[in-house]
Amino acid sequence: MAEPTPEQSITFADLGLRPELLKELSALGYEEPTPIQAAAIPVLISGHDLLGQAATGTGKTAAFALPILQVLASGDRGREPVALILVPTRELAMQVSEALHRYGRSLGVRVVPVYGGQPIGRQLKSLEMGVDVVVATPGRAIDHLQRRTLKLGSLKVMVLDEADEMLDMGFAEDLEAIFAQTPTTRQTVLFSATLPKRIDAIARKHLTDPRRIQIVDEAHPDEASKRVRHSAYIVQRSHKAAALGRILDVEAPTAALVFCRTREAVDSLTETLNGRGYRSEALHGGMSQDQRDRVMARLRGGTADLLIATDVAARGLDIDHLTHVINYDVPSSVDTYVHRMGRVGRAGRDGVAITLAEPREHRMLKTIEHVTKKKISVEKIPTVADLKERRLDLTRAALRESILEEELDGFRVVVESLSEEFDLMEIALAAVRLAHTAIGGPDDEEDIPEAFVSSAPKGQSREARPNRNKRAASGSSAGMARLFINLGREAGLRPQDLVGAITGETSLSGRDVGSIEISGRFSLIDVPDGAAEEVINALRNTKIRGRRATVRRERF
Ligand code: AMP
Repeated sequence: MAEPTPEQSITFADLGLRPELLKELSALGYEEPTPIQAAAIPVLISGHDLLGQAATGTGKTAAFALPILQVLASGDRGREPVALILVPTRELAMQVSEALHRYGRSLGVRVVPVYGGQPIGRQLKSLEMGVDVVVATPGRAIDHLQRRTLKLGSLKVMVLDEADEMLDMGFAEDLEAIFAQTPTTRQTVLFSATLPKRIDAIARKHLTDPRRIQIVDEAHPDEASKRVRHSAYIVQRSHKAAALGRILDVEAPTAALVFCRTREAVDSLTETLNGRGYRSEALHGGMSQDQRDRVMARLRGGTADLLIATDVAARGLDIDHLTHVINYDVPSSVDTYVHRMGRVGRAGRDGVAITLAEPREHRMLKTIEHVTKKKISVEKIPTVADLKERRLDLTRAALRESILEEELDGFRVVVESLSEEFDLMEIALAAVRLAHTAIGGPDDEEDIPEAFVSSAPKGQSREARPNRNKRAASGSSAGMARLFINLGREAGLRPQDLVGAITGETSLSGRDVGSIEISGRFSLIDVPDGAAEEVINALRNTKIRGRRATVRRERF
């Protein structure tokens, strides 16, 4: 199915969603559906099965969550769940549950997330009280099915989210066992970032005449002629605002357009940036024409350097002197990326396109690269040292300019009188310090931690890697660190428990985890060297199979 271009304004109301849901979406500041939502929601509302290719960041959660809520709103609720959403990790289970709560607030939906690592008692209680939607990792879903605390007889919708990740994590058998307990009348939805053969096989077996939706766009050859530098930074959500500040300091744009997904995000980022001394203005669909005009006048007049906007609000804007376009959030489709980036590099000018991506969103960057045929270089967030250097550069440039202006005679008397007491170098250093302080700049003391991102090529499964579940004689493979965990088979530990705990508690994805060996009393697992400390800390602070584990680097 073709994707709507950003110019074709499809609204959430056009998709057939109920007014309660529309109200909630508007309150959240969502201005229009993302392409995957525009394509998937009508299909799901009409009851079809769906095979969708979409990565994190495209808005796929709402694409399946809203139609589920629509079913619930029509009053189809009892004690047993109407919908089951299977996800690969605990982190995603929590995110998806939260999203359902958010979108379905006015409906009072009962959503229970079910994942390993949380005491089963609490989940039992919630399930017993009656539930509309269960969001589960496959392992824990199986546990509950075996205890008969999860019953799927009334299920109407089953969703597999990030299905390729679930297969990579070894959940294939668990998925089959879960499917076997669901009514064949169910609607089945499968979302996956990649569609390898194994996903196709699942779709053929369990989906009935599915509609296929692939959010992949045509290449845009006119982009190739533009002189735009594309770069990206991988950063945890909590560090995004600070990272943007650093990037702005180093890039020093003449004028930048910063895109956010929602009105709320626009307002809050504008406030944060202004609080840090940047001159930014917000622009979103909730503003009157008058307010918009004032904002644009401030930008054109140079009293603001940054415009923080949603896609809808920025439509049709033409800002001549724009040097930078920044995706504060990864765009929800390649077309959106191309459209946003079209604002710079006009008329043969140089331009810079910068994207901030969370570690889980790195696949979207790969897709954008693939479709636009443009290399997006992943850069390191400027460090405190980089910033200091940049600020000294600015001071040096300002002093140079001042020397060239030659109107310095009025200060000669100060230098001459000081030179009787100090040497010229000392006087110059003190003057530079004063100038440097006066030019100013944010004084961040702390470096922003680097977020780790998977380097495994798209579509590569962990099973395909050498070494899996086998310990190499020479110890861990290159670039990997081997960790020792004092829990093994006797504690009931399975590879997916370790992978689940790691992906749930750290920035790693299932693909980053290397070989796993589970012995009777202990386990060994390979993780990327750069992420070893993060994994050790995370595993020490969480319970695996209900127990605290000792975790350390294996020393050979
Ligand atoms: P997902 O790809 O489902 O993980 O969604 C990525 C992010 O986009 C989440 O933070 C959502 O809250 C947000 N989002 C989803 N749909 C929209 C929309 N139509 N407008 C603005 N933000 C959205």
